[in-house]
Amino acid sequence: MVFHSSFPAVDIPTTGVVELIFENRNNIPDNKPILLDAQSDRVITFGQFKQQVLQFAAGLREQCGFQSGDVLAIFAPNSLDYPVALIGAVAAGGASTPANPAYNVKELTHQVSLSEAKVLLCSPENVDIALETAQECGLDRSKVFVLGDSAVNGVLPHTTLIQPGRQLSAPVRVSNPTDQVAYMCFSSGTTGLSKGVMTTHTNITSNMLQVDALLGSHLSADKDQILGVLPFFHIFGLSVVIHMSLYWGIPLTVMSKFDLPLFCEVVQKHKISFSCLVPPILVLLAKHPLIDQYDLTSLKTIVSGAAPLSAELGNEVQTRLPHCTIIQGYGLTETSPVTTIGDLAAPVDGSSGILVPNMTIKIVKEDGTEAGVNERGELWCKGPNIMKGYIKNPAATADCIDNEGYFHSGDICVRDDSGNYMIVDRIKELIKYKGFQVPPAELESILLTSPSVADCAVIGVYDASQATELPRAYVVLKPSIQPTEATAKELMDYVASKVVQHKRLRGGVRFIDVVPKSASGKLLRRVIKDWVKEEEKIT
Ligand code: AMP
Repeated sequence: MVFHSSFPAVDIPTTGVVELIFENRNNIPDNKPILLDAQSDRVITFGQFKQQVLQFAAGLREQCGFQSGDVLAIFAPNSLDYPVALIGAVAAGGASTPANPAYNVKELTHQVSLSEAKVLLCSPENVDIALETAQECGLDRSKVFVLGDSAVNGVLPHTTLIQPGRQLSAPVRVSNPTDQVAYMCFSSGTTGLSKGVMTTHTNITSNMLQVDALLGSHLSADKDQILGVLPFFHIFGLSVVIHMSLYWGIPLTVMSKFDLPLFCEVVQKHKISFSCLVPPILVLLAKHPLIDQYDLTSLKTIVSGAAPLSAELGNEVQTRLPHCTIIQGYGLTETSPVTTIGDLAAPVDGSSGILVPNMTIKIVKEDGTEAGVNERGELWCKGPNIMKGYIKNPAATADCIDNEGYFHSGDICVRDDSGNYMIVDRIKELIKYKGFQVPPAELESILLTSPSVADCAVIGVYDASQATELPRAYVVLKPSIQPTEATAKELMDYVASKVVQHKRLRGGVRFIDVVPKSASGKLLRRVIKDWVKEEEKIT
């Protein structure tokens, strides 16, 4: 059975992303503050934003030789300058690839080299890693810039690219928005290592209008305030938070990272009414005593996404913040991202919401047949927001987008007879720690380089107290190595020394005699997950 959205189709823009923002369909006045810094008084108005985007684009083209189709890598935490640079590179006719600011040289090198970035923008604290990465990738030092207005270790500030009197007259025209890539976030997809997702202009403009169709009428540019605390390098922060604020003309207060007291202060001071969050933050909203010390009554809407939110946790937050409606959004980097989102007029506990317009869904059972209402199966979806594919990886693209254009999500869902989708399981390899992707194949390949390890498998184990999965390794040791606590700690430290902090083995290390595999040698993570379920029943 094919399920359609209950919403009328939206007209998909024929322009590029920046042209859609500049078209200003919501008549945002140029003097309206649109980007606000959570910790200083710094503000960028809508008019200044447009001007800086065109200036930055001109700087990239004139000073860095950046041409249409070139890529800017951004390696920095959230800041007011981030959206300017992100969108500026796209206005210059190129694309932006945003990287996790906590990456080490190896992780960043993977992203910069795969995306063939021509310019690398970093934050002051990341200059050394950026320079080492540039060297690894053969990128000239002069193509590395640091965000801000001061040079660091001889690396010029990005403001040298923003010169008064030098700006493009308009964003570079996008002649083929359904094909031209605007952003490349990274995702491991259903299997293997991190891959570059080619998100086109049309993917983003479609998703902007798809999200607007569900949420737009509930928000007001005059009264609402959005909080930008989710990382901008992740598609949820990039597409939903940055692009929707700019589209609606609703001021976006930018936090560089999550910190509970600061979050509460900012909500109270800026009268934040709308925020996209992840379940581990909702745990704090439900349970932390600090919440009672602040006036958070301005918060009208929380959209939880990037990982499952249980009905119980949603209800706990709802009880604590009775003025606030909590909905979920479901999607993936590969779907740009929003596929389903809660109906603010009729939110349903534990549901990931209803299908956005212009999309169809098939729910496919294990035997390959299509499920009906209230039946479990893998969620396949199709629409203008499905990525173009993975960079230089047609095989991985063909593995997840079929001939009919359906993207196979690797998530198991159930649709009820009112059109609400519940995400009930995940069959792909991916582990999510606090909304961040942890590709198990990456941790396994690192563990296999340890002299103690003969074989291994990594899975995610759920920790309800933090509302997140934790990566755990199941390890077969070499015969001479003792399965002691010290060995487990050594292996956890070994992995920690090689990965960004969200990929650490927080779920611990377990020793086993043999890793379960199929006759063809395929690792059977499901079997290990069943062991965990059995363990949980006993304890
Ligand atoms: P990412 O590409 O990092 O956004 O990760 C996408 C994955 O996050 C999905 O395939 C799901 O497994 C998970 N996910 C995102 N949103 C939700 C949600 N509302 N409920 C359950 N899982 C989610």
